[in-house]
Amino acid sequence: PYVIAAACIDVMDRSCVEECPVDCIYEGERKLYINPAECIDCGACEPVCPVTAISQDRRVPVEQSGFVADNARFFAEP
Ligand code: SF4
Repeated sequence: PYVIAAACIDVMDRSCVEECPVDCIYEGERKLYINPAECIDCGACEPVCPVTAISQDRRVPVEQSGFVADNARFFAEP
């Protein structure tokens, strides 16, 4: 799945939300999150993000790898 990392924090431009064909991008308190169970890996969200916060999970920069788990945790049952 695609993952939204640090650059989205306190930005939440939401361009990606309009682009996503399966509506799997959700709003958190300070950033947006992609539901990994719903993302179809189409890549449509990546180029429209004005702060380049989105990338495919296996291409997330090492220093931001924590956001892969963070996105998954956001959708985990409590
Ligand atoms: Fe939605 Fe496609 Fe981005 Fe996944 S890769 S979040 S399906 S727009």
